[in-house]
Amino acid sequence: MDSGEERRAARSRELWERARQLLPGGVSSPVRAFAAVGGTPRFIDRAKGPYVTDVDGIRYVDYVMAWGPLILGHAHPAVVQAVQRQAEQGTAYGAPTEVELALAEAITAAMPSMERVRFVNSGTEAAMSALRLARAFTGRDKIVKFAGCYHGHADSLLVEAGSGVLTLGLPGSPGVTAGAAADTWVLPYNDVAAVEELFARHGEEIAAVIVEPIAGNMGVVPPDPGFLPALRRLTREAGALLIFDEVITGFRVGLGGAQGLLGIVPDLTCLGKIIGGGLPVGAYGGRADIMERVAPAGPVYQAGTLSGNPLAMAAGLATLEVVSQPGTYERLERQAARLAEGLLAEARAQDVPYCVQRVGSMWTGFFHPGPLRNLEEVRRSDTAFYARYFHGMLREGVYLPPSAFEAAFVSLAHTDQDIEFTVEAHARALRRAR
Ligand code: PLP
Repeated sequence: MDSGEERRAARSRELWERARQLLPGGVSSPVRAFAAVGGTPRFIDRAKGPYVTDVDGIRYVDYVMAWGPLILGHAHPAVVQAVQRQAEQGTAYGAPTEVELALAEAITAAMPSMERVRFVNSGTEAAMSALRLARAFTGRDKIVKFAGCYHGHADSLLVEAGSGVLTLGLPGSPGVTAGAAADTWVLPYNDVAAVEELFARHGEEIAAVIVEPIAGNMGVVPPDPGFLPALRRLTREAGALLIFDEVITGFRVGLGGAQGLLGIVPDLTCLGKIIGGGLPVGAYGGRADIMERVAPAGPVYQAGTLSGNPLAMAAGLATLEVVSQPGTYERLERQAARLAEGLLAEARAQDVPYCVQRVGSMWTGFFHPGPLRNLEEVRRSDTAFYARYFHGMLREGVYLPPSAFEAAFVSLAHTDQDIEFTVEAHARALRRAR
């Protein structure tokens, strides 16, 4: 980071000092603290379309987009209106609502594998609840996850996780009991042979395989063509469940999520982010015979005071209505492809080892020639360079994820001009970072 840039952030610095006295690490969620890149996190004052403006009045083209929910951009009029209208009618009732039913109908129409849907308040709750259900349904204890995938912070999933756990260089977390971790087997992403071997030896103990069908939490790592089909085949043969964690990819890579794009049908799916339009939400769902075990239809307990909260349901429904319009995913693809091409061309021109891993509008620029297919390979990218580059981009007015291991997002609000602006900023930030 350079001192000029830090000086401009005077008000953020002041708030950061105060926040660190009160909030652990100054934040409500770890990656926001800029731990991996250094410097002062920007306190955001307001946002509109593709831009966030910080408390010092500096505007940035935003590619964090609240970590994925804001596929329409910030403060989209349809979402703002839906939330305002709902707020006037009450913010929570603790009773069923028509808007939650409408959102469930929109989800199942887009993702037919979700024959039943249960709303919760976060992606963490969705994944945690899906696992409990999978264990109850199969009568087995073990789960399989992949190194670098993040499924929220439930104990049994905080083993070799991605996102903030990876950014902070933690193997897991203190406070997770050996027992909780012992029931989680971790394998390398995209390693079919490792999954085959585990299933050959222990297939009958495995309740579920949980996977990000397109990984986003070690940065974007697409699945090799044979990876997900192998997971589908092996789980089916062993009587285990396949859980797709589509908290990021759901409604991001297409209306049907990764499962629609790649043509693989999981037993259970976790959603979050986009289906709440920027309000707190999660959902899990899938095969009716499995989901009917959830209370009160069945004995597997799971509940929530604010689950299916009408404000979140209204924001999510408004978001899905907009993304369902024709041309949405074509536009996202076009804008993201333009961005990726521009970034790559400039890196090539400056002879900087760099690759963009991208599926539709979710992308990561790694300082490595690529391709990077799993956590071990992703770790070879140049994180020190990324930290310098990140601050260069910030100085240029571009807000990227403050970690080399996160997905960035293009929204429907990003214009050609924003993309050009970003590519020009990138050219200068690269030069300064070398
Ligand atoms: N699963 C995936 C794939 C995620 O990316 C995340 C969060 O980024 C989660 C689960 C956890 O969701 P939340 O942060 O809403 O608890």
